[in-house]
Amino acid sequence: MKKNRYQNNLKFLLSAPDLKSLPPDFGKEVAFIGASNVGKSSMLNTLAGEKNLARVGKTPGVTQFINVFVLDQKTRIIDLPGYGYAKVPLKKREELQEMTNSYLQKRESLVGLFVLTDSRHPLKPQDLKLISWAKEANLPICILLTKIDKLTRTEAVAALKFVQNEIPNCSAHVFSAENKTGLGDVLTELDHWLL
Ligand code: GDP
Repeated sequence: MKKNRYQNNLKFLLSAPDLKSLPPDFGKEVAFIGASNVGKSSMLNTLAGEKNLARVGKTPGVTQFINVFVLDQKTRIIDLPGYGYAKVPLKKREELQEMTNSYLQKRESLVGLFVLTDSRHPLKPQDLKLISWAKEANLPICILLTKIDKLTRTEAVAALKFVQNEIPNCSAHVFSAENKTGLGDVLTELDHWLL
């Protein structure tokens, strides 16, 4: 596959513990969100063509920030905290959710949101809540069914169909960090939002 414009060009900028630590709200950014362990770090690493840009299977402490990656001065990729991690204390989880919600509501440079959902059991209640909120807020979203390499071809087709039926009029793609299935689709969506 030809080199994409994110490959080797995406640089880690900072981990923000709160909204005021984010870089100035100008230009464009696209955010990635999903339940803990959905494969978000692996996807970002695949996108960047780097093994360790976003850490895979990290300890919970590392996931409790908004991670910011920059492509150029006015283009950013945002890694939002994974939700639903049972080992994170409830109070902390609520704080994280509040920070994430207010990021999603207030960030003017946010032009699109990838919602990652595990293809083996897609659209958990928290995914659905997020998707319906984004629709109401007119925030463009794209649903990515992760770890598709774990399904057979027939199962993969069925999972995608299920998501398209549940959430009509919304773009949805399958993805695998393992074999790069769907990378082209993610790049196309990103370019559509960021270029
Ligand atoms: P995050 O918590 O959403 O950032 O998830 P990670 O990227 O850390 O991945 C969680 C676990 O799922 C790790 O053990 C990864 O190796 C595994 N994983 C992530 N993406 C894939 C994938 O596309 N295929 C397979 N088979 N495993 C994956």
